[in-house]
Amino acid sequence: MIRWWRRRRRALVCRDAVELMTAYLEGALTARDRERLEAHLDACPHCSEYLAQLRVTIDALGRVEVDELPDETVDDLVELYRQWQAG
Ligand SMILES: [Zn+2]
Repeated sequence: MIRWWRRRRRALVCRDAVELMTAYLEGALTARDRERLEAHLDACPHCSEYLAQLRVTIDALGRVEVDELPDETVDDLVELYRQWQAG
């Protein structure tokens, strides 16, 4: 049964989730991508935390592209991702 579920709903890896986040915050995702991202966020505290940070950054700056994030934010995310993979 678990195998069936996995096959139907391919899990999003964190890298994919991060790529979808700015579009998500801009309301630019398709319903399907939004569902996949939200399912991943439910299961992944690191990405939830990152999305919260991204939201704060966007609120503060008005608008932000992922590649315009401050280096320390990107470093934090890379570190979170490493810890998540190691765990
Ligand atoms: Zn994640």
